[in-house]
Amino acid sequence: MTDATAEMVRADNVHKSFGSLEVLKGIDLVVKSGEVCCVLGPSGSGKSTFLRCVNHLEKINAGKIFVDGDLVGYHERGGKLHEMKDSEVARQRQSIGMVFQRFNLFPHMTVLQNVMEAPCRVKKENKSAVRDRAAALLDRVGLGDKIDSYPSQLSGGQQQRVAIARALAMRPKLMLFDEPTSALDPELVGEVLDVMKDLARDGMTMVVVTHEIGFAREVGDTVVFMDGGVVVEAGPPAEVIANPQQERTKAFLSKVL
Ligand code: ADP
Ligand code: MG
Repeated sequence: MTDATAEMVRADNVHKSFGSLEVLKGIDLVVKSGEVCCVLGPSGSGKSTFLRCVNHLEKINAGKIFVDGDLVGYHERGGKLHEMKDSEVARQRQSIGMVFQRFNLFPHMTVLQNVMEAPCRVKKENKSAVRDRAAALLDRVGLGDKIDSYPSQLSGGQQQRVAIARALAMRPKLMLFDEPTSALDPELVGEVLDVMKDLARDGMTMVVVTHEIGFAREVGDTVVFMDGGVVVEAGPPAEVIANPQQERTKAFLSKVL
């Protein structure tokens, strides 16, 4: 059960290497249920890798990640970790929505079909119920009049809003965003951020990797600054953005603000 004070994400001393390259060097992080955590940091600092570990797209080498109290990818029995079966991993991942920089919509499907695909195919849900839900979600992201369009007929901002609706169609308890506006023309960024703000207001728990400092300041409950595979500084935006204590945070912010 999720309650307002529960931890939706907990990372304890998470390490991840690719070969000899250690990318995550002991990440500790907590995101409470209903909160928005914005992750800032220079390119190559391990932000995407961390999100991918939370979603079990990457396996960690040491440490633990919990989502909604459950260990990601493992069972703990008698003090030992046992890898989950693929089917269990798949089920766990269904409760986590992810939105990438590139929208990755299915080009041969309409907008509505894109949003219906996973609930129908993966969850085998009733098609007419899914259609109603998908149409409502598309309405919510401002695309009620585009449900029969194909992705190629939409702007980047519209495609990204479809990608958000598609993730929401699985009724996730956690949404991960990896630089969702970085591939967009500047004039299209606002419409995507507005949809994310609406989600946040509605109580969705979100981890958002972004370079949009204004968004982090306004919407973030916590801001995490990562550099070189560690969390350099974390706290409310009023501290980390407005009054950073660490030199690396100050240097980064002075470049992006
Ligand atoms: P960020 O998202 O903060 O820009 P990433 O998590 O994408 O950083 O990457 C951190 C480091 O890990 C980079 O040096 C990148 O080249 C490396 N890296 C990421 N994914 C892989 C991979 N699959 N194999 C090898 N190296 C990787
Ligand atoms: Mg990245």
